[in-house]
Order: sequence, then C-alpha cells, then structure tokens
Amino acid sequence: METKILQDCATDLLEAATLLRNGNVVGIPTETVYGLAADATNSDAVRQIFAAKGRPADNPLIIHIAEIDQLYKVASDVPPLAQKLEKQFWPGPLTIILPKSPNIPSVTSGGLDTVGIRMPSHTVARALIRLSNCVLAAPSANRSGYPSPTTAEHVYRDMCGKIAAVLDGGVCDVGIESTVLTLEGENDVRILRPGAVTAEMLKKVVPNVTIDNAVLHQLENGKTAKSPGMKYQHYSPKAKITLVKGSLEHFTSWISQQQNDTGVYALVFDGEEKFISVPCLTYGIDSKEQAQQVFAKLREFDDIGANHVYVHAPIADGIGLAVYNRLIRAAGFEVIQV
Ligand code: AMP
Ligand code: MG
Repeated sequence: METKILQDCATDLLEAATLLRNGNVVGIPTETVYGLAADATNSDAVRQIFAAKGRPADNPLIIHIAEIDQLYKVASDVPPLAQKLEKQFWPGPLTIILPKSPNIPSVTSGGLDTVGIRMPSHTVARALIRLSNCVLAAPSANRSGYPSPTTAEHVYRDMCGKIAAVLDGGVCDVGIESTVLTLEGENDVRILRPGAVTAEMLKKVVPNVTIDNAVLHQLENGKTAKSPGMKYQHYSPKAKITLVKGSLEHFTSWISQQQNDTGVYALVFDGEEKFISVPCLTYGIDSKEQAQQVFAKLREFDDIGANHVYVHAPIADGIGLAVYNRLIRAAGFEVIQV
C-alpha cells in the first residue's frame, strides 16, 4: 500500500479524518510521541494496528478522546477519583485505566476488561478525533520493540507501505509516552508507566501514589504484569545499549577502557562530550530535554551504524524517572554502576 504524507492543513486533516472514519490506520502526532491511530470501536481497523506494528495481541492499546462525553462512552464506570484526575491533568499526557464499556471490542483492550484512556493536548490529534467522529486507539507508531517515533519521518521509516498515511504535526513536545496509572480504591493510584505527569504532580491531587515495581525492575518469572506492555523488550535500537550509572569522572575513565572495541559510542548529557574518548551523541541538559530527545538519539545510533552504546544514566527523578524507565528497557536491564 502507498503511505501518504499529509500536512497540518485543513484539506489534509479532512483526508486523514476520512481515512480513519473508513477503518484505515493513520500515523498521527500527539504531544507525547506519534501514535498509530484507528477507530477504537472497529475491530478490523484495530487489528491492522497490531499487524503494522507486529505488536503482541495481549498488549492493549490506549484510547484517545477529545471530549469528556467520550470518556463515558469508552469506560463503563468513572469513579470520583478518575474525575478529579481528568479535571486536573486532561488534556495532557496521563492515561487512566478504567473498566471497559461494551462499545470497545476486546481486540482493542488486548482481551482485558479494562481500558486505558487519555485526552491528548495536541491540536492535530484533537482535530482528528473531532473530524473523524471516532475515539482513536493509538499505540506508539514504531515497529514493536523499536524506539518510539517523535517525528513524522520516524513513523514513515517504520510504517512505509503498512499504513494509509502519516500526518506530519512537527516534533513531539514531551517526547516519551504518557504516564499510565490505575486506581486502587478511593484515594490511591498506582503508576504502571511513568511519564511527564510525575508522581510529585499526582501527589498534589491524590493522597497515595505508588510506583509499581515493574517501573524500575524486570518482571520476575511467572509473575503477571499489571501493564502487559511492561513485560516486553522495548524501545531498543539495533545497537546494544548499556546504561552506566555514576559521576562524569567515573563514566569518563570507565568509557576510556572500552574505546578499543569497534563501534562503541556514548550517549551523554550536553557538555559532557568534550571529556569522552569515544564518539558520542548528547541528549540534553535536564530531564525534560532528555525526554524530548532520547528516542530520536537511540534511532540516530542505528543510522550511524553503532554496535554498542554506553548511556550515561539520567537522574531518575521527576520526568527523569520516565527517561530512566525507557532506557533500562532499551538496555534489556543491563545497568552498570561505575
Ligand atoms: P503504547 O500503546 O505503546 O503507548 O503502550 C501502551 C501501554 O499502556 C502499554 O504498556 C500497555 O500495557 C498499557 N495499557 C494500556 N491499556 C491498559 C490496561 N487496560 N491495563 C493495563 N495497562 C494498559
Ligand atoms: Mg509503545
């Protein structure tokens, strides 16, 4: 199939909305990462998302809405705590897991009786939901296992020939996927995937915020993941990734011992590159910039032909926890303390 590249203009938005309405898959910008969108109520359309990504059928999709009325069509129960969260954080990068309404086919929810829902803030995503008159199931628009896309070009490279179109809405502002949380009683939430809505921000609204063990640790054999996506290898480029924790001084002396291996690169904070004895890329100065850049930089290492990338670990605090979470998965949990 030919994959069209559409622009953020009235005629192209209408074309993308018509494609979605007619059961096609379209790559769309959101403020987090690009999504691979289809009508969440159309099983055949949703199956095409799984096929294009090569995504395991038990890994549920997040449903994107533009109006609060749609929340009540997608979820069968919206408890007061969910209402409080949506009032505070929507539109924005927060996904809330709620009991699924019968309107949503089980292929969309990966066979679960719950569904992840969010209202994106990106104007293009919102316009497409409104114009298509659909709620959109949209996982990240990468090939399954590969780093998430933060530009239309990333999507085109991964999905060319597999989907009807990609709508170019520029570079994603946040750069990593939404915070996913589940409600546990009237005053408790559990973060299953960290994102730009941080535990600190949630604590201002919810008395008890727990970070699920799977955020920082590999799932033990035989245990069931509360968020199925957390059990899969994720976000990895072709190059092997190793996360290295420690001061710049220790990182610098440690990396100099790896410099004779072929294809060794480093990913470090802005300003650190001048101290590093192997070729490197940088990924910003603070956690917000690291979130914006991390996936694009992981993809860039494949373009350069890197074999092994040593990443100077980010500070796992605030949005940095989300960056750290993506990087330990990209590294297959290979973390070295120097
Ligand atoms: P992606 O679509 O690539 O952003 O990934 C969506 C993430 O949300 C995955 O980690 C899913 O496992 C998680 N998720 C979506 N829906 C649910 C749900 N109903 N219960 C638990 N986790 C979910
Ligand atoms: Mg994903």
